[in-house]
Amino acid sequence: MSIKVAKFGGTSMADKNAILQVKKILESDEERRFVVVSAPGKRFKGDEKVTDLLYSAYDEKKATGSCALYFDKIRERFLAIVQELGLDFDITPYLDEIEQKIGEDDNRDYAASRGEYLSALIASRVFHLEFVDAADIIRFNKKGIYDASYSNDLVAKRLSFLKGAVIPGFYGSLPDGKIKTFTRGGSDFTGAIVARGVQANVYENWTDVDGFMTADPRVVENPVIIDYLSYEELRELSYMGASVLHPESTFPLQSTSIPINIKNTFNPTAKGTFIVRDTAELQGNRLVTGIAGRPGFTTFFIRKSLMNNEVGFCRKILSILEYYDLSLEHMPTGIDTMSLIVPNTNLTDETEAEIIEKIRGEVNPDVLYVYKNIALLAIVGHGMSNQTGTAAKVFTALANANINVKMIDQGSSEINIIVGVNADDLNRAVAAIYHAFF
Ligand code: ASP
Repeated sequence: MSIKVAKFGGTSMADKNAILQVKKILESDEERRFVVVSAPGKRFKGDEKVTDLLYSAYDEKKATGSCALYFDKIRERFLAIVQELGLDFDITPYLDEIEQKIGEDDNRDYAASRGEYLSALIASRVFHLEFVDAADIIRFNKKGIYDASYSNDLVAKRLSFLKGAVIPGFYGSLPDGKIKTFTRGGSDFTGAIVARGVQANVYENWTDVDGFMTADPRVVENPVIIDYLSYEELRELSYMGASVLHPESTFPLQSTSIPINIKNTFNPTAKGTFIVRDTAELQGNRLVTGIAGRPGFTTFFIRKSLMNNEVGFCRKILSILEYYDLSLEHMPTGIDTMSLIVPNTNLTDETEAEIIEKIRGEVNPDVLYVYKNIALLAIVGHGMSNQTGTAAKVFTALANANINVKMIDQGSSEINIIVGVNADDLNRAVAAIYHAFF
């Protein structure tokens, strides 16, 4: 029998009705044997996610010695779910222990992870599946880096002989047993780890939208749903802000060809989006797969005559960025010019001034200035590499919308074109390009 791993996000675990809907989905297909769950998410606009409440509870405990204010909300949320589902499960001792332990060992990750932990305890009782704690099968090394091969062995060993299991998403453990989480949205990553470990035939990622969209639905009305995309395209789009799936969630699957199927818990018959390793055969003549963009970048522009003759020029500049712990996103160059695009995280006014001074000292540029408030957008698609006209279409659309392009970069794999625009123009730019292609 083939195996499906099904990961359910926060809205799918948000309350009794959603959880019963998940139950139906699991019962409708016995291949859905391994289930990964998120913490309860928002039930309505303006609602709070349990994970956010847990972070606040940790901060409250650290500041005041108690987390009663936030933990009461968390307690209420879980008690209501258990009661409304009519479960014969006394969750109070678990809640009491967590309330007491939050903040005890200065481990914010422990606090954050408890939403998934409790969610999985409840889910295992509702779905009649064994609970397997992620701390036992997902491991990080001493430096806090996810240990892929060790975890894969543990997952395979622990799960392969089970008929099924529920595993909490988002966290694992360090060698000393302490809890460590992935970055936000990391349950998607857990789902991929489990899919790889049990050698699933498909990794279903259940969320609250009909699939991966060609553009942000807050910017473009009713964007087309992408029927399939490649791991690589997913990475490019999610890194640039498309938020359906965690940008790193394909990594555990790189050495496999397990497809990810994005599905909608609240519209389960919709086909959803398939994310596969290789789209070559499915490609047809599709030029662009999707468009995504996000603000929050700064550009350092440098001009120096005969820059091209100065061996070591780049190294000097890059060492300065490294010193300030800034990751370089893009570096388009001309013969005598160079632009360095860095994310605003880690860049304060103070560090910016220091960087300018250091660049002046190291390479003595003729011109040096800083553009703030830059947004990057990515136009992504394998189809671009063997067909002509994509760039022309992109820039015609931007010109027609009267949008000033600050920077252009094309990845060497030719699967994306990156355009830098003023952040205030981002949404208009996405919409203009979307309408040029779809
Ligand atoms: N609950 C965590 C978050 O809100 C992880 C997840 O849902 O994937 O980020």
